[in-house]
Amino acid sequence: MSVSIAIDGPAGAGKSTVARMVAGKLGYIYVDTGAMYRAMGLFFVRKGILPEDQAAMAEACEDADISIAYEGGQQQVFLNSENVTGLLRTEEAGKMASAISSCGAVREKLVALQQKLAASQNVVMDGRDIGTVVLPDADLKIFLTASVKTRAQRRFLELTQKGIPCNIKEIEADIEARDYQDSHRAISPLRQAKDAVLLDSSHITAEEAAARIIKLHGELA
Ligand code: C5P
Repeated sequence: MSVSIAIDGPAGAGKSTVARMVAGKLGYIYVDTGAMYRAMGLFFVRKGILPEDQAAMAEACEDADISIAYEGGQQQVFLNSENVTGLLRTEEAGKMASAISSCGAVREKLVALQQKLAASQNVVMDGRDIGTVVLPDADLKIFLTASVKTRAQRRFLELTQKGIPCNIKEIEADIEARDYQDSHRAISPLRQAKDAVLLDSSHITAEEAAARIIKLHGELA
């Protein structure tokens, strides 16, 4: 039986950094589900389909073949055989992903892919609905959060270090808008699973958060 760790939480809480660390330590596969929604968003942008057009999205998403592979331990995302990994981490792609992720057909398709990945190997999977919908029987569920201020500061640092000009107030507003959108959508809203452990990373480092998760994993029966 494969083991799965589900990490959910709002944008910028440090899920991907922490999930990657935990996966690396345990020798599990890290599955970044946000990247799949981002790739689907890119597909719709290229097709000229607006996120308001649910019917067009539902129809077109049948033609989007999204798959993942690992190169040097890093997840690579393929959209109809093209490696689009390098195009997915922009604020724009994040906003588009958030907008299209309320489409039922999109979620159905990506959830099936995620469940298939977790069925055959040990995974640390992060996203918004992993503990509630994708892997309701996950061996360990974490809800990783942090204050809006902390998350905005982290994003600001990350972008500034990459030389991308940005404004902290705008980032804060974007994070708040994305939180609202993700937690108020009708299908699979961002929510802490009843059996998830709440971990607030506002005042601890990613290493400390990862260490807590590894400890909880070690305590599994
Ligand atoms: O985690 P990341 O910022 O890459 O996710 C981008 C967007 O994709 C999120 O804001 C959310 O709307 C959507 N998403 C989702 N379900 C997931 C992962 C991401 O709806 N499991």
